[in-house]
Amino acid sequence: MTKPVPTLTLNDGHTIPQLGFGVFKVDPPATTRIVTDALEVGYRHIDTAAAYGNEAGVGDALANSGIDRAELFVTTKLYNDRQGTQSAFDAFDESLEKLGLDYVDLYLIHWPSPAQDRYVESWKALEQIQASGRARSIGVSNFLVPHLKRLFGETDVVPAVNQIELHPAHQQPEVTAFSRAHGIQVEAWGPLGQGKYPLFEATAVAVAAEAHGATPAQVIIRWHLQTGNIVFPKSNRRERMAENFDVLGFELSPSEVAAISALERAGRVGGDPNTVE
Ligand code: NDP
Repeated sequence: MTKPVPTLTLNDGHTIPQLGFGVFKVDPPATTRIVTDALEVGYRHIDTAAAYGNEAGVGDALANSGIDRAELFVTTKLYNDRQGTQSAFDAFDESLEKLGLDYVDLYLIHWPSPAQDRYVESWKALEQIQASGRARSIGVSNFLVPHLKRLFGETDVVPAVNQIELHPAHQQPEVTAFSRAHGIQVEAWGPLGQGKYPLFEATAVAVAAEAHGATPAQVIIRWHLQTGNIVFPKSNRRERMAENFDVLGFELSPSEVAAISALERAGRVGGDPNTVE
């Protein structure tokens, strides 16, 4: 029998499935089909964002699935161009409308966008959205230690998660340790390095894959789960969705985990949180 997806508890008491499905760069017209496939494969945690332009497709797939809302975990994000107070409220309403939901499980500030200097104001808006019950949990994305420290100093609610670029070649140890030390769960975006780094060919990954009769992608996803990350690999292809979901039947040894962790090379594949506007 397939094991259930593990859950982690957030600092507000809600739980989150540790393995989900991300939809960055999923074409809006194809989104309903792709998310429907993902739900059929077994995923119940979907990570989208206003900036991806595909919330409506996600919403259609959720509505058509017949799956009980309580079984789903849906995240979306406030984009940089809507930071502020009223603009954040409006953007959130638009996201809910597109998703066809009356609440999301998790709402994130997508990037700190420090040049605008509005993330503290935006966070206070998210605190109000959470108080209204329309976002069960609230969090941030791409926040570095100084951004988190400012929130701690100037606002009331500690983010439930920090969603950052994280894969074996770019583990961001400082922000990861700081987040965890403050009760913030770490979500790993680009968990497979977006296919841009040759993680799949790395010896440590290949050796573990051989030992467990697993694929390199499965080994990397296991590494995330065993190091405590929340992870939502993206694929347009149903067979890869199934492959990426089929990771609960084996366990890496501590030495395999350590060998994969040694692939760190500060190899960012996405934007720098200090400069992405
Ligand atoms: P991933 O690391 O999940 O990599 C996705 C790429 O890997 C795609 O090209 C996909 O190709 C390929 N792939 C997937 N599964 C396999 C497999 N089993 N074998 C070989 N190749 C595979 O990158 P993402 O950037 O999509 O990150 C995951 C999610 O994180 C996003 O979808 C989004 O939800 C979130 N994210 C958040 C960001 C933020 O700023 N907060 C930024 C970026 C992502 P194919 O589709 O052809 O299978």
